[in-house]
Amino acid sequence: MSTQVGSAIGKPGLIVRGEIRVGRMADASPINLPVLIATGRKKGPTVWLQACVHGEEYGGAAAIINFMQNVDVNELSGTIIAVPVANPPSFNFRSRVSYIDGQNLNRLFPGSMGGSYSFQLAAVLRTEIGKADYIIDLHSGGIGAEVPFYVIYKDDGSEVVQRSKELAKQVGCSTIWRAKERDGLGATVTAEALRLGVPAVTIECGGGTFTDQNLQDYLTSIDGFMKAVGILPGPAPRQKEYTIVSDGTFIHNREGGMFVPACKVGTIVSKGQLLGRMINMFGETTEEIRSPHDNAFIAALRCNYYPTHAGEIVGEAVPIETHEAA
Ligand SMILES: [Zn+2]
Repeated sequence: MSTQVGSAIGKPGLIVRGEIRVGRMADASPINLPVLIATGRKKGPTVWLQACVHGEEYGGAAAIINFMQNVDVNELSGTIIAVPVANPPSFNFRSRVSYIDGQNLNRLFPGSMGGSYSFQLAAVLRTEIGKADYIIDLHSGGIGAEVPFYVIYKDDGSEVVQRSKELAKQVGCSTIWRAKERDGLGATVTAEALRLGVPAVTIECGGGTFTDQNLQDYLTSIDGFMKAVGILPGPAPRQKEYTIVSDGTFIHNREGGMFVPACKVGTIVSKGQLLGRMINMFGETTEEIRSPHDNAFIAALRCNYYPTHAGEIVGEAVPIETHEAA
């Protein structure tokens, strides 16, 4: 049976396109998610590939567009459902949250058709992702922050977690964030996927400036994931050793101003080490931002001199839990 998502109906040997209807704006213009379905000639699993759950993280959309333009559908065993922009009202305004209701889509799954717009979008997405066997979700630091290339899998203690972890080891990067409930990530799309029994990983890469290296890293991760699940032929990349990080802290500033980083993303810092400073418009340091953890991976930092209100996220520090061999 062919895969149908929104108005797109998959056909073996073809990439078809369509739209997923979510709702309408006040002026009745439609809110639709663009969707592509690439169907191989051979049978295999179905992967849901998406980006821009946070609309400002446009690098993921660029990577999906690039991947789908270059994939050879005749090589595929199975189906790829690609959604470059999962949150158009947030994408249109280059915003992490939706300008319609101010909500962060990735914190309110499973959503509800009886809730505000973002809850309705989450409910629509939840129905569609249930059609897939695997999910890969692309994120970045957004416009005002940078992240290094790493992968997240959600560990809720369920049986599918092992499969998610196995896939996380095959996307071409050596740092893996094992996200637990207390990381505050219990209502993300990947957490919801696990509740639906679907193994899922989140790729993090780049941010404010989308570089050629960022595109390459995203493409490496998509290609590796497709190989790991058997949709693309050939072996997926494996690293000699993996660094598993967990129990991360989102670091919020107290003082508004401009953020001046004091270290680089992806580095390992000790407790109390300076991560950056807030400066006011007179150039004075109004706050020093320090690592709350020892032996911690810096998973995100605000961009250089980025204007920042009090209480925004200026960084993420995630302690190293263990090292694992391949
Ligand atoms: Zn994101």
